[in-house]
Amino acid sequence: MKRLIYADNAATTKLDKEAFEAMLPWMTEEYGNASQPYSFSREPKKALAEARASIAACINAEPEEIFFTSGGTESDNWAIKGSAFSDPTHKATITSSIEHHAVLRSCAAIEKLGYPVAYLQPTTDGTILPENLESCITDNTRLVSIMFANNEIGSIQPIKELCKIAHSYGALFHTDAVQAVGHVIVDVKDLGIDMLSASAHKFNGPKGIGFLFVRKGVDIQPYADGGAQERGMRAGTENIASIVGMAAAVKRNCDAIDQNNKHVLALEEQLINKLSSSGIPYVQNGGRSRLPGLISLSFPDKDGEAILHRLDLKGICVSTGAACNSKETEISHVLRAIEIGESAAVGTIRISLGKQNTIAEVDAIITALQAILNEKI
Ligand code: PLP
Repeated sequence: MKRLIYADNAATTKLDKEAFEAMLPWMTEEYGNASQPYSFSREPKKALAEARASIAACINAEPEEIFFTSGGTESDNWAIKGSAFSDPTHKATITSSIEHHAVLRSCAAIEKLGYPVAYLQPTTDGTILPENLESCITDNTRLVSIMFANNEIGSIQPIKELCKIAHSYGALFHTDAVQAVGHVIVDVKDLGIDMLSASAHKFNGPKGIGFLFVRKGVDIQPYADGGAQERGMRAGTENIASIVGMAAAVKRNCDAIDQNNKHVLALEEQLINKLSSSGIPYVQNGGRSRLPGLISLSFPDKDGEAILHRLDLKGICVSTGAACNSKETEISHVLRAIEIGESAAVGTIRISLGKQNTIAEVDAIITALQAILNEKI
């Protein structure tokens, strides 16, 4: 088999072996439905409660504030639509132009139904400034939804200050923390967050499972009607195996956050130092406050998609900032919003390093990049 260097950890991460092993019994022997009253359902019910408590502890929440979902997309949809529909008197939502499509398209959906949405523009390093929120928010604002960390350029937002402004106008604050949970410290109480979206496959858990944190007392509409699961807010038989796997993965990452960050930052430093000394012209996007390991690089006058495919031929996985279809190049909404210019955007790649990457892999990525960028592409 060809050697694989996986450097696209912002797209998804490798499932931790320990999380996988924790999942197995819930798919084989302990397959009971947690909602049934007989003793065979006692263990799944207990596992569900333990997972909820363990996940809550990782973000300093209470267990009853964690609602299991199918992942980041569902959590974002629920937070945006569930809060808009819960208060017809306060209709407005404020978000940013650099959110993930799960937020942006949920906002477009409520706009069609008559709920106004305002989109804050970032600075050129991808930051949403509190003063921009201050100048846009009114007493009619129901929800402010600003992502914790951007998935394309890694910029981390001033969440505490943004929360404070939202609350001073009586609005709720939601954050899409899909790229942040398990990678940087997230303390919902300290930051004052009302709702937070997370997804297990971004922190070495299984795919198709996530959660929405909803602070006690926050009034949102249920996501799915049906049975009484998730306290009637999100009906459907619980996916115990995945929930247990998610709890194991997030605990492992949160317990080792400093150690993992130290490792990933050392890899990042190595990559940037080698790239700088190679003499290849590049610009790094995302400003100074960024997610460790998420490196967005623009190579002006180069073609990011061609770089991606050439790296792929060498067994290296990265992402781009622009995708070419047969007629035109589609530049990502994030790169457009930070105004890096068409040529830089077309020449952008995202390398996202994780705890499983090694120095040898970083060296191999740089060697491959150098060879590719010295070709005519
Ligand atoms: N929000 C952000 C910031 C993301 O990066 C992603 C996934 O790429 C999502 C939401 C969607 O999460 P999921 O894949 O779990 O639906």
